[in-house]
Amino acid sequence: MSNLKVPKATAKRLPIYYRYLRFLHDAGKERVSSTELSAAVKVDSATIRRDFSYFGALGKRGYGYDVEDLMNFFSKTLKQDRLTNVALIGVGNLGHALLNYNFHQSNNMRISAAFDINKEIVGTILSGVPVYPMSEMVEQLRLQQIEVVILTVPTEVAQETTNDLAEAGVKGIMNFTPIRISVPKSIRVQNVDLTNELQTLIYFLDHYNTDKDKD
Ligand code: ATP
Repeated sequence: MSNLKVPKATAKRLPIYYRYLRFLHDAGKERVSSTELSAAVKVDSATIRRDFSYFGALGKRGYGYDVEDLMNFFSKTLKQDRLTNVALIGVGNLGHALLNYNFHQSNNMRISAAFDINKEIVGTILSGVPVYPMSEMVEQLRLQQIEVVILTVPTEVAQETTNDLAEAGVKGIMNFTPIRISVPKSIRVQNVDLTNELQTLIYFLDHYNTDKDKD
C-alpha cells in the first residue's frame, strides 16, 4: 500500500479528510456519507469517491464510510500512527514561531532538534527543543535519524545549508526561504513562501470577483 502512486492533488486532500474524520470521531460519529463529507470539506463528492477509490473500496453502498476505519486508514497512510521527528534549521523570527507552534494539532510530528549559528541560543533549550550548533548538524541529523527538516535560515546560506542537508541523508525539506533550492533527486522540497502567499491573496482580491473564478 505504501508504494501506491496516488495523484498529487489527491495526496494534498488527504490531511483535510483526515482532520475532519478526527473531528467526527471525537464527536462520537460512527459513519459518514460522501455527501456529508463533501459539504464539510468543500470537495465535491465525485472527487471524494475517486480519491478514496485509489485506496481500495473503503465505503459501503447505502452505509457510507465507517468513520473510525477511515480515520485509522488515513492515519496510517499519512504516517500519523507513528512519530516523525523534524529538525528546524535556523532559529530566527520565523524559526522561533515554528518552535512555539510545534504543530500541536498533530500528535505525531514534532520538531525535536533545532540548529543555528547564534551563540546566544546554541546550547539552550527553546520551547522544549535543544538548539545545536550548525557545525553539528550533519552528525546530529544522522545520529537522530531525522529525515525531514524545516529550513528557515537566511536566503544567502539556504543553498549551502541544503547541500549539507543532502549529505546528512535528509529526504524532505520544507523550504521557507524565498529561493528555489537545488536538491538531488532523493530529496523532496515543499516551498512555503509566506510573503508570496499574502501577495497572491491581495492580488486576487484586487483582480478577481470573489464569488466567480474561485479556485
Ligand atoms: P526570519 O524571520 O526569516 O527567521 P530573522 O530576521 O529572524 O529572519 P535571519 O537573518 O533570516 O533572521 O536568520 C534566521 C536565523 O538563521 C537566525 O537565528 C540566524 O542566527 C540563523 N543563521 C544565520 N546564518 C546561519 C547559517 N549559516 N546557518 C544556520 N543558521 C544561520
